Amino acid sequence: MNEDLSLLCGSKANDGRYNFAYLDESAKREIRRRTLKAVAIPGHQIPFASRELPIARGWGTGGLQLTLSLIGPSDVLKVIDQGCDGSVNAVNLRHLVALTTGCKTTTHTQEATLIQTRHRIPERPLDKNQILVFQVPYPEVLRYVEPREMLTRQMHAEKDYRRMWTFLYENVVQYGRITIGFRYPVLVHGRYLMDPSPIPRWDIPKLNRNPALMLFGAGREKRIYALPPYTEVQPIAFEDIPFEVEEQKAQRCQRCGSSGVFLDELPGETSGQSQWVCSDTDYCDQQLEKRNSAHEKPGSIL
Ligand SMILES: [Zn+2]
Repeated sequence: MNEDLSLLCGSKANDGRYNFAYLDESAKREIRRRTLKAVAIPGHQIPFASRELPIARGWGTGGLQLTLSLIGPSDVLKVIDQGCDGSVNAVNLRHLVALTTGCKTTTHTQEATLIQTRHRIPERPLDKNQILVFQVPYPEVLRYVEPREMLTRQMHAEKDYRRMWTFLYENVVQYGRITIGFRYPVLVHGRYLMDPSPIPRWDIPKLNRNPALMLFGAGREKRIYALPPYTEVQPIAFEDIPFEVEEQKAQRCQRCGSSGVFLDELPGETSGQSQWVCSDTDYCDQQLEKRNSAHEKPGSIL
């Protein structure tokens, strides 16, 4: 935490200028009630009265409202944007929550009790004491195939997902494979089709039977939905054309040397060849630290 932020988060934090966690108590209570309903019906979208916040719609107001309604004085918060703790979006959201609660913040996944994320799931496995809050731009998975809200609700109510299957089939006929790169549709507990927010396909298997509670908030669209711990979550696919994650086996992180994690592709500045680095910056830092300490250890085989 930088010095300015620690000053703001210290004993003088807030100073009575804001209610704890910015939102008023009745607003937080309403969001928690909606969240409980969402947990009770995994994958089902619950409407809520999305409040105005001092950030623009589309900058993660849904996720932020969930975080603000849940956070308590003993929580430790981590905020990531595309896996990065240091992006403008992540830094400002973390700053806002810390300023209005005085809560501790961290960049280490294992230390956090509450993690707010935009478009990634941390590489390090989560545990049952953690809550992962997703910022969701488009909560309606059926928007791919149906623009009318009334009809998508009816399709969910009747578990009528034929048009999504047709969409995938046409995709395969046209391109020979399913080309959805992110927001890959998943079926929750064999019942509701759900938009997992724009995480890469790499992260989809992590949704299945995850011990952490996962909450999804869409501020602009005023929807909350949830995956309780250990919920079965499966990407939809055909028997002969199975779901596949991004092909990155041949690549390694230029910085820490890791493979088997989700990597970001960076265009090379001079060579014209791409470079690859871990998308999860905390994971990358920790791997780099381990590698450096192994190098420094006398008699190390590395
Ligand atoms: Zn790395």
